[in-house]
Amino acid sequence: MIQITLPLGFLGTVYREIRQALVDMGQMFGLLAQPAEIVDKAGAPALKVAGGEVLFDDVRFDYDAERPILKGITLRVGAGETVALVGPSGSGKSTIGRLLFRFYDVTGGAVRIDGQDLRDITQDSLHAQIGVVPQDTVLFNDTIHYNIAYGRPAATEAEVVAAARAAKIHDFIMGLPDGYQTTVGERGLKLSGGEKQRVGIARTLLKNPPILLLDEATSALDTQTERDIQDSLKEMGQGRTVITIAHRLSTIADADRIVVLEDGRIVEEGTHEVLLGRGGRYAAMWARQSSEDEAAEAA
Ligand code: ATP
Repeated sequence: MIQITLPLGFLGTVYREIRQALVDMGQMFGLLAQPAEIVDKAGAPALKVAGGEVLFDDVRFDYDAERPILKGITLRVGAGETVALVGPSGSGKSTIGRLLFRFYDVTGGAVRIDGQDLRDITQDSLHAQIGVVPQDTVLFNDTIHYNIAYGRPAATEAEVVAAARAAKIHDFIMGLPDGYQTTVGERGLKLSGGEKQRVGIARTLLKNPPILLLDEATSALDTQTERDIQDSLKEMGQGRTVITIAHRLSTIADADRIVVLEDGRIVEEGTHEVLLGRGGRYAAMWARQSSEDEAAEAA
């Protein structure tokens, strides 16, 4: 009996972690399930992360053969580096996130983490090493404790509280009628967008992945909440490799590097200052967004 329950229990835990990552990814990219038949190679080993360097090596990709989407992307995100992807709608930012998660296989080139081609390692081990913070965190109809511990079901009470503290949601939780045992979600207490995102941050902190994929569109939040969340995300990114898919330029000005995509190609890259000084695509996007923000403030 023990021989059977032990492995099944273990599988349950792994399954839950993977499901969480897939739920977050699905939420982030509007996908409901793993869309393609991506199968592990027979006997594939687990991904071994040393520093967490991500390399897109001349990546080409299309969802259907008639229409190329990524047209030769070479992008190296060093261990511990924060890179923000910007570009017009449809330029391929989310597609890069999906390929990092191996929701699809590339049609040319390769994606590697610390030198290992994603096609050569197990998907479970890949998903375990990437933390995803979507803009709209999915909450389960369960206690807030459960919702945070979902990042690592075996976590102790103290670890859950520590993660909630780091995500700056502990005080809020302590003010709820049943504290950590308060039911949240559709049939429980409704949390605001900012609170939900903090639960997502706590969940990810608990999972403690070396690589983070962030979706920084926080349009549903007010300015102060957005700033606070940005600070928390930034703190979480310390010592991790971070790829941020940015929709608002103001949130990524201090990224180590900003990569501008257009029509499936990288057209510019550099720091905010360097790109502004260059007076190219990024500078034009920045000028446009600044004037839009000013107009919105004046309204
Ligand atoms: P946005 O800022 O609007 O989110 P994006 O830069 O993230 O855009 P992607 O979502 O990567 O853009 O999409 C790139 C291109 O791929 C778009 O033209 C889109 O229509 C197409 N595309 C995205 N997902 C699919 C899919 N599942 N099947 C077919 N085409 C798709």
